Amino acid sequence: MTPSTDPCVPVEAREISQWHAETDVLVVGYGGAGACAALEAQSCGAEVILLEAASDGGGTTALSGGQIYLGGGTPIQQACGFSDTREDMEAYIRIAAGANADADKIRVYCEGSLAHFDWLVAQGVVFNPEYYGGKHTNTPEYQSLTWSGNEKGFRESQAATPAPRAHKPKAFWEDGGATLMATLKTAVARTKVRVEIDTRALSLIREDGRIIGVLCRQDGELRAFRARRGVVLSAGGFVMNREMVAKYAPRLQDATPIGNPNDTGGGILMGIGAGGAAINMSEGFISVIWYPKGAFCEGIFVNEQGQRFVNEDCYHARGGHHCLNQSGRKAYMVVDSAIFTEPPLYANAQVKEVGESFEELERDAGFPEGTLTATLATYNRFAAKGEDPLFHKHRDFLRPLDKPPYALLDFSIDTGIYYPSFTLGGLDTTVDGEVRRANGSVIPGLYAAGRNAAGLPRSGEGYASGFSVGDATFFGRRAGRAAAVKA
Ligand SMILES: Cc1cc2nc3c(=O)[nH]c(=O)nc-3n(C[C@H](O)[C@H](O)[C@H](O)COP(=O)(O)OP(=O)(O)OC[C@H]3O[C@@H](n4cnc5c(N)ncnc54)[C@H](O)[C@@H]3O)c2cc1C
Repeated sequence: MTPSTDPCVPVEAREISQWHAETDVLVVGYGGAGACAALEAQSCGAEVILLEAASDGGGTTALSGGQIYLGGGTPIQQACGFSDTREDMEAYIRIAAGANADADKIRVYCEGSLAHFDWLVAQGVVFNPEYYGGKHTNTPEYQSLTWSGNEKGFRESQAATPAPRAHKPKAFWEDGGATLMATLKTAVARTKVRVEIDTRALSLIREDGRIIGVLCRQDGELRAFRARRGVVLSAGGFVMNREMVAKYAPRLQDATPIGNPNDTGGGILMGIGAGGAAINMSEGFISVIWYPKGAFCEGIFVNEQGQRFVNEDCYHARGGHHCLNQSGRKAYMVVDSAIFTEPPLYANAQVKEVGESFEELERDAGFPEGTLTATLATYNRFAAKGEDPLFHKHRDFLRPLDKPPYALLDFSIDTGIYYPSFTLGGLDTTVDGEVRRANGSVIPGLYAAGRNAAGLPRSGEGYASGFSVGDATFFGRRAGRAAAVKA
């Protein structure tokens, strides 16, 4: 009998006629979460096999900017002259994670942040004690510390003293993720962890309700791998599986999926098949990036009613979220000639209209009479005083728009501009990565981490760079440790 390869249907152990290999802990997926799960499990004395569908480890973590959200007074924060506390970090992430926040995960993450920094350094990760304070998507050179979310936002800064917490391994610009994974892979290579590349996990193997292995396709054959202690699912998100996106996260459908080609949700489906609950599945990071240069934050976003809807100095995923929420998904930015020299680097939003006055811009772009002009009159009146009573943009970016000609840049998603997206939903897990059923009980032998799980980042609107790689590496370690010792 050939066992089922449908990820949603676990294979019963009695269907396995021959085991290809046996170990203590099987880790599915060799990205950030998988590497850290494997390292931690083996350091607890477990034998580990890492199964990776691609021809090398890395995953989306290697494609990422490598920013890791760490705080509470890390050596890098201190060296750059910033003080921070665990309490402020926790209060900030609680707001950022939104209505679906997992308070337990946030608490253990913040309690463990300094130790996680030390652990990463012990694996060989180098952080450069240099700070970048400009408005950018990442540090543009080799600096390791920067702002990466909405810490200075009005609501957030009332609840928590702001601090920069994105820690990028020392690497040029967006190469932080590649550098992080190269370092973690070197650390894995120093251990006895056995890495099986070109090995795609297809379904989980179950015995008496416990997950005891994984059925894989390797060298064109179906091969069964047995785990004496536990299986950790760390196979990434599902943004490349457009059927899953349509079913679970339809808001992401018209955005550009970013990630590695194996972000197809296989691990999540396997977990669901084993009885696990998938949560937060509709949430995703959807961004539109109007900075750098930072001067674009001095412009104002308006909708087709000519009204503002967000503080323009916010993190780009908050901007993307709110641009998509406007009627007709129409969003524009008004800039003056002091701001605009060329389209923004990432979004490449094009000029829809140019005018010597706001009246001309309003008329030619077809805004209802009196709307855009009223918005700009109010904005300019308060900006001259360094105030933004509606959206509380930081005074660093408040300046009256008074240098004609004025331009209207089109940030609407239907213009085809870049709206990058990835998923933030996954299996419901405990702080130790145990996969939960809908009734809250855990499935023996099954763990999940990284984007196979619903972790720290729960909201596109509140997202900050560093939440995902921070979550994947931190909770990957916890899942690996639990799989190694809890059995
Ligand atoms: C361009 C870009 C920039 C980003 N920048 C940042 C940033 O700076 N900071 C941040 O926090 N987040 C960032 N993110 C998000 C972040 O990179 C990911 O959410 C995170 O790295 C996911 O880690 P992971 O370990 O869960 O998955 P991955 O790193 O994707 O690892 C999963 C691995 O599982 C493998 N796999 C998949 N299916 C199977 C299977 N069936 N069998 C075996 N193996 C399988 C994959 O090939 C992959 O190697 C960025 C994302 C992108 C795309």
